[in-house]
Amino acid sequence: MNLIEQIDHWALKAPKAIAHISGDRRLTYDELRRRSDALAGYLTDRFGADRAPIAVLGHREPEMLIAFLGAVKSGRPYVPLDTVLPEQRIDKILAISRPALLLTPEGVAKLSSSAAAVPGIPAKRDDPFYILFTSGSTGEPKGVVITLGCLEHFVAWMLEEQKFIPLGEIFLNTAPFSFDLSVMDLYCSLMTGGTLFSIGRDLVENPKMLYRALGKSAATAWVSTPSFAQMCLVEEKFTETMLPRIRRFLFCGETLAAQTAARLLERFPQTEVWNMYGPTEATVAATSVRIDHSILEKYSALPVGCAMPGTDIFVVNGTGEILPANERGEIVIAGPNVSPGYLGRPDLTATVFFEHRGRRAYRTGDQGRFRDDLLFFEGRMDSQLKVSGYRIEPGDIEANLLALPSVRDAVVTPVIKNGAAQSLAAFVVLSSQTEASDFELTQSLRQQLAERLPVYMLPRKFVFRDAFPMTANGKVDRVRLAQSL
Ligand code: AMP
Repeated sequence: MNLIEQIDHWALKAPKAIAHISGDRRLTYDELRRRSDALAGYLTDRFGADRAPIAVLGHREPEMLIAFLGAVKSGRPYVPLDTVLPEQRIDKILAISRPALLLTPEGVAKLSSSAAAVPGIPAKRDDPFYILFTSGSTGEPKGVVITLGCLEHFVAWMLEEQKFIPLGEIFLNTAPFSFDLSVMDLYCSLMTGGTLFSIGRDLVENPKMLYRALGKSAATAWVSTPSFAQMCLVEEKFTETMLPRIRRFLFCGETLAAQTAARLLERFPQTEVWNMYGPTEATVAATSVRIDHSILEKYSALPVGCAMPGTDIFVVNGTGEILPANERGEIVIAGPNVSPGYLGRPDLTATVFFEHRGRRAYRTGDQGRFRDDLLFFEGRMDSQLKVSGYRIEPGDIEANLLALPSVRDAVVTPVIKNGAAQSLAAFVVLSSQTEASDFELTQSLRQQLAERLPVYMLPRKFVFRDAFPMTANGKVDRVRLAQSL
């Protein structure tokens, strides 16, 4: 059985089992199968042999799951888009991905209610399954193409390692479907006949409602960035009493601080804590390690673990030679989980993807080393950042600032606290003199930028300068600017 057949078989085995809960809405496995089949039939009927992607814009509605499966059942990849993205960003992504159709929950509801007309032509192993867009350093988002084969390799490993109980799990979904972390909870849940319990934006913004929802969720598997768990740990009632059935915390996407893991183990003594590592380009995660008391005693900076079976991870020097253990270099991932590349960007693809012994390989831009057979992540080689788990290229924000007529020059740097990027600061040289106060200018630039970029990419602080300091070789001195914060 391939991944789609495995998901569909729950509709026969347990048709009334709940596949998805979002607010007061529920979707059964039977509905998911029938409606995604109907949508696939419609797409095949309407678009025939055209395999252009299907864009899906929404925010955790059950229709998003129907749309994802409907698209791939008709042999088309889907491009998940969350409504947190501003229109201009969505337009850019649509211009790059050129979808056959942009579906909204309302559209899906309509198109999936009739009986399947024409059977779909399901995706094959090397066919694109989804395309996820991440921040690109030039201001253009990059579309990472993930095939059915990539996803199957990832999910098979997760199911093998975590031993989820078929029809017995409730997975928390904290990341929007436009981020690859959500792929972990979505497909681990659907493949095991589990229930995906979505935590929507409204809950994240309202702690009281969030804890009430968590308490009601009966979740057994927690999937989030460490930042999300840190936020929850602020509440003293965030303990086993709130989540009595929780069996594992699965983290990925940014550094898991030893202190966060230790506090979780204290509050949830019966629960496993896992640290996983990987980029969107290698399908969510490629390494894992269970963080128990012995690991916490041994390492102050936690490891990210061992490579998934069937995938090689190595650390290379500047000329691409594989380094021995304990030496720091760039982390490279090679295996069937590695993406074939960026959509429509052979130039970008060629800079970071390559063949290694007949397998697709990806240079992550992450620094790290192996120690005691465990991989340790030690920061980036470029300026890419993680702020609250979001992947951000400062160059993306700078390019969008420079596109504003009032901005002549811009540099974006992280504001570092306790060794981690807490927020962003933008240094700006304006195109012309103005009477406006710094406060007014900040408001205005933030507002204009918010039309182009998602909220999590907006600098919190703006600093206005007449000119930027330069390094000896004539480049903007970013280090000096950052130090001046
Ligand atoms: P994304 O494509 O959004 O998943 O971001 C991938 C990047 O997040 C990686 O290249 C790393 O820089 C960072 N990352 C992912 N997982 C971890 C982890 N467990 N610890 C530290 N950094 C991580």
